[in-house]
Order: sequence, then structure tokens, then C-alpha cells
Amino acid sequence: MKVVEKIDNVRKEVKKIKESGKSIGLVPTMGCLHYGHLSLIKTSTSECAFTVVSIFVNPSQFNDPDDYKKYPRDIKRDIELLKKEKVDLVFAPSVEEMYKEKASTYVEVKGLSDILEGKFRPGHFRGVCTVVCKLFNIVQPDRAYFGWKDAQQLIIIRKMVSDLDIPVEVKGCPTVREKDGLAASSRNVFIGDKRKESLSLYKALKRIEEMILKEGIRDTSVLLKEGKGIITKYQGIELQYLEIVNMEDLTPVKKIEGKVLVLGAIKLPSVRLIDNIIIDA
Ligand code: AMP
Repeated sequence: MKVVEKIDNVRKEVKKIKESGKSIGLVPTMGCLHYGHLSLIKTSTSECAFTVVSIFVNPSQFNDPDDYKKYPRDIKRDIELLKKEKVDLVFAPSVEEMYKEKASTYVEVKGLSDILEGKFRPGHFRGVCTVVCKLFNIVQPDRAYFGWKDAQQLIIIRKMVSDLDIPVEVKGCPTVREKDGLAASSRNVFIGDKRKESLSLYKALKRIEEMILKEGIRDTSVLLKEGKGIITKYQGIELQYLEIVNMEDLTPVKKIEGKVLVLGAIKLPSVRLIDNIIIDA
């Protein structure tokens, strides 16, 4: 497994692989790898002849500089994990390598980026799309793997790829959860003694699922009232949003029909968490 920091060196490796006709899978990450990342990586190594994992804590997607500074990093451990997964190439650039001093071009998916997460994290998806577009240009993967854990991100990236005719297949992988149901996340290290509170969002999502699938409730306002009630029962949590939306364009759904995405964000004193589930009524 090679670990490279320079874009030119990735290009050299990619050129060789392309010439040999092998397929390339890309798994973009911000490092501090956990089981969620590893499931994406395992899918890529099983489907592609050559797997590239990028590790880059992308400053342009952090709307809060403190959050960027605090974001957990452990590149040594990450590299050891990736070796075990038989990853072929790790791309771990510096900020200076990724963003030339006078770079002034951004990729923005209007509309989808301004709602839900976008309302609470202005500029976040512009940063995500810009860096993912750059990674696609650098690595030129046949397939790229993203987690449904970040459902809005996945939907936005698919839209970017379609709008800009980027020749990559974007694959969505299911959310990996810890034993108690909490979605695996690099940020979970900040939960500390607020485990019960951190699980409130997942509890609300599961209760909404139960109401739709077992109790046949279709009225979104009834479902959201119950879900929000579960979260706000806990002290010290800010419920930022809980919504039931259409899978394609993330618009709110009034009456449940077919597949819907239920997604939300909560803020604990030390960490902000997002989660979602897909429900097929
Ligand atoms: P991050 O390092 O948080 O930017 O995540 C890198 C990729 O891993 C993104 O596509 C995420 O959606 C995905 N990911 C993060 N957590 C999980 C999880 N618990 N299950 C599945 N995919 C995940």
C-alpha cells in the first residue's frame, strides 16, 4: 500500500492502473477511521481492482473554525487500518497541496445545499462538492463510495455528478451502527457521558419507522410531533431539525407514500450529531 501526499504522484499511479485496464474505486474520508468507513472500503475492494482512500480534513467544508481545529485526527492509526484492508493507495494531502494559494473556483449545487444541514452549516456543501470534485479529477475513479449516514451529502454529490457529467458511478453504502444503534461517526469520541442523550435522535427515527410500518400512520405532522417529543424530553439537547423528505429532491413530504428519508440533527454540549433512516412504506 502506497501513501502519497502529492497530486502529481497520485496521477502517476492512476495512469499506470488505467493503462492496465483495471477499475478504480475511491473512498473519500476525513480520517479517524471507524467501522462505517471500513464498510465503504470493503465494498470498494470487493468491487474494484484498485482502491484509493483519501484522508483529508477539508477546511472549506467547516463553517466553524473551532470545529475544524478540534476535528479528531489519527493518521498513523488510519494507515495501519488501511493496510489491513488491502487498500492500494492512500492519498493524504496537506491543505496547501489541495488548495493552491489563489484558488477561487468552487462547485455549488444550488437549492439542495441550502436546506436541512445547509441551513445550519452555511457553505458546508459547497466545500464538500468542491473537494469531492477535485478528488474525482485527481483520482478519476470508476466508482466512488459514500455513506447513507450523510444522506444529504450523497444526494447532492449524485446531483453534482449528473449536472457536470462527471464519469463516475456514485455508490451509496448503508449506515453502520454501534450495538446500541448509534451511527458510527468520527465525532462520537466527543459524546463522553452523554450517550443516552446522543441516542435520542436514533430513538425518534425508529419510533417514526414503527409508526409508519406497524401502525400505518401516514400523516407527517403526527409522526414528526411524536419524534420531536422523544428528543426534547432529554435535558441539554438542542433539536436542530427533524424532517421527513422525498428521496430525490429532499422536499418535505406531507403524506407518506413509497420511500421517504427521515433525517435530523441534534446538538449536545460537546458535539453535533446527524442521523437518518430510509423508510419504504
Ligand atoms: P467522513 O470521514 O465523516 O467525511 O466520512 C467519509 C465517508 O464515510 C462518507 O461518505 C460518510 O457518509 C461515510 N460514513 C461515515 N460514517 C458512516 C457510517 N456510520 N456508516 C456508513 N458510512 C459512513
